[in-house]
Amino acid sequence: MKITGISTIVVNAKMRNWVFVKVETDQPGLIGWGEASLEWKTRAVVGAVQDIAELLVGEDPRRIEHLWQIMYRQQFFKGGVVTMSAISGIDQALHDIKAKDYGVPLYELIGGHVRDTIRMYDHLGGGTSEAVYNAASRESFAEKAQQSVNDGFTALKILAVPRTEPLDGAKALHHAVELMGVVRDTVGDDVDIMVDLHGRTTPAMAIQYAQALAPLRPWFFEEPCQPENVDAMVEVARAITIPVATGERLVTRWQFREILEKRACAVIQPDVCHCGGVSEIKKIAAMAETYYISMAPHNPLGPLATMVNIQVGFSTPNFLIQEVMRSDVPWRNDVVDDPLDIRNGYVYPPTRPGIGIEIDEVEAAKHPYLPEDEARYFHPDGSVADW
Ligand SMILES: [Mg+2]
Repeated sequence: MKITGISTIVVNAKMRNWVFVKVETDQPGLIGWGEASLEWKTRAVVGAVQDIAELLVGEDPRRIEHLWQIMYRQQFFKGGVVTMSAISGIDQALHDIKAKDYGVPLYELIGGHVRDTIRMYDHLGGGTSEAVYNAASRESFAEKAQQSVNDGFTALKILAVPRTEPLDGAKALHHAVELMGVVRDTVGDDVDIMVDLHGRTTPAMAIQYAQALAPLRPWFFEEPCQPENVDAMVEVARAITIPVATGERLVTRWQFREILEKRACAVIQPDVCHCGGVSEIKKIAAMAETYYISMAPHNPLGPLATMVNIQVGFSTPNFLIQEVMRSDVPWRNDVVDDPLDIRNGYVYPPTRPGIGIEIDEVEAAKHPYLPEDEARYFHPDGSVADW
């Protein structure tokens, strides 16, 4: 079997573009799909897929590990989120091809199922000053939280913390507690609420938010500071009682190594569209397992990425819970041939060979590339704020 072509299809889904990677083979009808979406770097990823494709055309797609080594090591400059997103999409497509060739769902190819269900969590968003400070907006959060519970979810995530100055005051802390309190009151004590700080807080502020929110029992505290300085993350993790989660911006096992060795978190959140694909997320998960650290994959991207994560979750012992995006575009499921079936907040093992869904290229073509929405933020004094 040989790879005959690698191409991309870009689908604009409002705030982000989904980059689907298509790997074709010389076997009639046998193609693989992957996803390499990377917001605000869409055209760079498409170019990176083209650069890497030159290494793979003519190779046997079933030699996944060998091809991963070629993609990662045979072009002098390694890593970086653009290159690794391209590798991730291609690696997923190679897994799709191999599992289809064997006639099994992907999870069977990567270890078989270690659990019978996958617990999903809903993402309510937030994080704008308006969402946090505005009473009407807090009410709308209560409605969204109630809807998640009505839909069967037992866990949800909110950005309860507004964009925060390096050292902010009591008002910011007070309103974060109010927003989280509204959601806690709505869902009761049996639903797990995760808080994502989006790396927009300094360690000093993250520690204060954690102390203020701790009585409302957040399940985990995500990206309490930017990830470049692991010791800063460790400082937060040691100072608070809420488990820290991080990793959505890290790529390859080498970047996760320091996080794990320093025990900077309780939960890692690699993104299968950035970290290096199925091959790499399985290795990162195994490394985390040796530190008794769980994995909750980051997953705000397209429908293909969600299915890949489902397949990984079924075969990974230290998998914890799966994020799912439900509120980006109403036609989300139209571009695939089999929408994700979430029953009462849980997903059951897929049965179709491969990743389990195909891209509908006719539907996809209805939403061509557009530049991503501008998302630039500033503090009140005009200085740049983190996203
Ligand atoms: Mg996050």
